Amino acid sequence: MDTSFVAKKKFGQHFLHDKSIINKIVAHSCLNENDKILEIGPGKGSLTKILVKSKANIIALEIDNDLINGPLKIFDDYPNVQIIESDANNLSPEITNLLGNSYKLISNLPYNSGTHILTSLLTSPYPPKTSVIMLQKEVANNICGRDNKLGFLGAFFQSFATTKNLFTVRPTSFRPPPKVMSSVIKIELLDNPLINLEQLESYKSFLYAGFSAPRKQLHNSLSNGLDITMSYSKTLLSMAEINPTIRPEKLSVNEWVSLFRKFIETQKS
Ligand code: SAM
Repeated sequence: MDTSFVAKKKFGQHFLHDKSIINKIVAHSCLNENDKILEIGPGKGSLTKILVKSKANIIALEIDNDLINGPLKIFDDYPNVQIIESDANNLSPEITNLLGNSYKLISNLPYNSGTHILTSLLTSPYPPKTSVIMLQKEVANNICGRDNKLGFLGAFFQSFATTKNLFTVRPTSFRPPPKVMSSVIKIELLDNPLINLEQLESYKSFLYAGFSAPRKQLHNSLSNGLDITMSYSKTLLSMAEINPTIRPEKLSVNEWVSLFRKFIETQKS
């Protein structure tokens, strides 16, 4: 592995060198040569090199020009790989067109902006059907749920996708090693989402309000976040048949969706 490149903190650069982890990510991606893959942040190309073997069509977006003109040059010779200099937070219409409406996202995402990149891709008009991604372990737990607790991101993503925690990865698998543990997760879009694309933004704001005071009882958190009276908050919870004294993270995605529907209904009437 090329060690001359100095990792940039501002781009969340922690390069994977552990081949067994890379192989596991690729195995969980179930690739075939007809697949189109979006890789965000190929870095020095350690995951890309294994993805290439599947013969799938790979579009890799990298923000760091020094990587594009350095270690990633090796992919110039591969007809099935396109390395594009781009900020994944702002996909241009050309890249959206290249991706089309059926592609897989396979990435070791940067820690500092991974959640934002993932959220904007998954809520775009053409989201990846399947994503196999590495994130900070806490974020992965928030998305997939753990110990009968579901975080804000989980209640959001699971309204239109299934999420699965695949395995955790130790800091020693990266150079430089991050200070935190990582996890690889799989997200697959539901054929019949509980919340459709048009309502996603308002559902997200509703959840944001619901999780505004996560340590408080749900009726308090809801009334705080939505700026509604305690009695309205209790009425909503009673309509959705949810215990008002539990904490927000104890609700299932179905309960959040049902509560959201009651809120919309009562706002109309
Ligand atoms: N995939 C490589 C690996 O596993 O070794 C690198 C992973 S490193 C955690 C994250 C990569 O994302 C870096 O190469 C970084 O430069 C790139 N990156 C950070 N922010 C980005 C953004 N907004 N758009 C595209 N790439 C970005």
